[in-house]
Formats: sequence, structure tokens, C-alpha cells
Amino acid sequence: AAKAGGKRRAVVYSDVHRERALRAVRLEAELRRALELGELRLHLQPVVDIRTGATIAAEALVRWQHPQRGLLPPGEWLDVAERCGLMPELGAWVLDEACTLAAAWTDDAPRPVTVHVNVSARQLEQEGFVDVVRGALVRSGLAPERLVLEFTETHLEEVSDALLQDLVSLRESGIGLAADDYGTGYSPLTRIIELPLSMIKIDKRFVGDMLEDVRSRAIVTTLVRLGQSLGLEVVAEGVETPQQAVQLSELGCASGQGYLWSRPVPPEEFTARLLPGTGTGYGGSYRAPWAL
Ligand code: C2E
Ligand code: MG
Ligand code: MG
Ligand code: MG
Repeated sequence: AAKAGGKRRAVVYSDVHRERALRAVRLEAELRRALELGELRLHLQPVVDIRTGATIAAEALVRWQHPQRGLLPPGEWLDVAERCGLMPELGAWVLDEACTLAAAWTDDAPRPVTVHVNVSARQLEQEGFVDVVRGALVRSGLAPERLVLEFTETHLEEVSDALLQDLVSLRESGIGLAADDYGTGYSPLTRIIELPLSMIKIDKRFVGDMLEDVRSRAIVTTLVRLGQSLGLEVVAEGVETPQQAVQLSELGCASGQGYLWSRPVPPEEFTARLLPGTGTGYGGSYRAPWAL
């Protein structure tokens, strides 16, 4: 009986497995087509100076304008792209598009607005990744100082010598390198000084909890200080309330990103409303969170 039961479970498992595999294959085909047909879009979310509300950067976040299902955030399909080997192509498109958008921005900020691009694990391991990045800069004419690449901490847990060399050469050419979702991975703290980073982005989970949970606040405090003492820029992600912004500012965190200021928006809206000097959004009439 035990044997039969085991067999039945195996059959059920393999059905579920096959169903899932089929769905992934279908999604993969759809995604390849989406890339060819140009159904992918980048939305832009401002990174702001918490004191002034001025936009200092935009994070490019990929969306799929699906003909039937509408605008799909990456949570539903990006890991399929990653697993089926579509990431080099998709990632290269994202880089090209982000650099092209940013190269067209004219703004009156003292420091030009930078563009942040997320880089996946597969993309980073890919042969010739550095050339893909350089190619995007050359084609768009964007200055390297205006590009920041974001890597999640887990992607940085095991860094080969070759990859480290790549990162160093990117950084030396002026490109910014950010540790994304920082604090959620399991890399030792020392990792942050072994890599040529220029920025840490504190994960939204800690920012979201920091007013209620002393432990989250302790982590945010520590990361802000760590960034300061290492000369790294620090961005708090997922800022949703003025109270969080006030707290962050008191802790010495200069930059923030989150729904408090803006959701990710289409590029046209970003250019019209959120670039410094456009002034029709919060830009012109910004009131610091503590004045609200
Ligand atoms: P991420 O890089 O950490 O991006 C921030 C995510 O938090 C975005 O989700 C953004 O919409 C969301 N967010 C921003 N402000 C708030 C807030 O105040 N509250 C909350 N709850 N969420 C906020 P999104 O766009 O769904 O992207 C999810 C993840 O997908 C990204 O996390 C990133 O890891 C990945 N991703 C997005 N675009 C790309 C891409 O072009 N390439 C790669 N490799 N990964 C991407
Ligand atoms: Mg990111
Ligand atoms: Mg993040
Ligand atoms: Mg994330």
C-alpha cells in the first residue's frame, strides 16, 4: 500500500510539474514574441532628495504591455525570462532603452539626473556583459556618470575574479554600482567593501517597518551610517509616508524612493512632470515631509 501511495503521489507530482512546465514554455514563447514586437516598456520612478523633493535619478522598471492582459509588472514573468535564457536579450533591450531615454532628458538640475538599471544574475554572468553596457552608452551618447547599475545582494554573494574585474572596470569608467534591496541577503558585511560599489539601496521591508519595529529601525540606522562612513550614497526604498521620510532624514539618509513621491510612471509623464524644473508635480511646490 505504501508503495502504491508513493507511486500515486509521484504521478500527481509529475502532472503538476508538467502543467507548470507547459505554462512556462507558453510564457516563454509569448515573451520572445513580445520582445520582437516591442511590447516591453520601461516605467520610471524618481529617486528624490528627501529634503528638497528634487528628482536626482530615475529607476527604470520593466513592464510588459500585454495585448490581452494589459500592463504586467515584472513579478509575474521576469523569473521565467531569467530561467529560459531570455535575460541577455531582454536585459540588453532594457539597457539600450534606459540609456536612450536618459540621454534625451534636459533638466536644470545642478547635477544631471541619472538613470538606474536593474541587472539580473544571469545577465551579470553573461560573457561580454561589460560590452553590452558600453554599447548602450555609445549608441545613446549617455555619459557613463549618468548610469547606475543595480545588483541585488544575492547576485553579489559569489563574485568570481573575472566578474570583479568587470565591475571594477565599469566603476572606473564612471558608471555607478548599487547594491539593491540591501539587507535582505546573506552576504557578509565585508562584501560591501570588497566590491567597487558607489551606492546602497536599503530594502523597502526595513523602511516599511522602521516606525513600528525597533529592529528594522536599527538596521536602517546601521546601513545609513555604514554608507556614510564608506562614502557610499544611500537610498531608502519603499518610502510611503511622510513620517518615514522624516525619520530617514533625521537618521541622515539623504535620498529616498517610494510611493510618497511617485509610483513608477511612463517616460513621457516622467519627463513632463518629474524632471527638475518641470514643476507641475511635487517638484515646484514641494513641502518637506515635516512641514506637511
Ligand atoms: P527593485 O529593483 O527593488 O524595484 C523596486 C520595486 O519596488 C518596484 O517594483 C517598484 O514599483 C516597487 N516600489 C517602489 N516604491 C514602492 C513603495 O513605496 N512601496 C512598495 N510597496 N513598492 C514600491 P516592480 O516594478 O514590480 O519591480 C520588481 C522587481 O523586479 C524590481 O525590484 C527588480 O528586482 C525587478 N526588475 C524590474 N525591472 C527590471 C529590469 O528591467 N531588469 C531586471 N533584471 N530586473 C527588473
Ligand atoms: Mg532596483
Ligand atoms: Mg530594490
Ligand atoms: Mg526588489
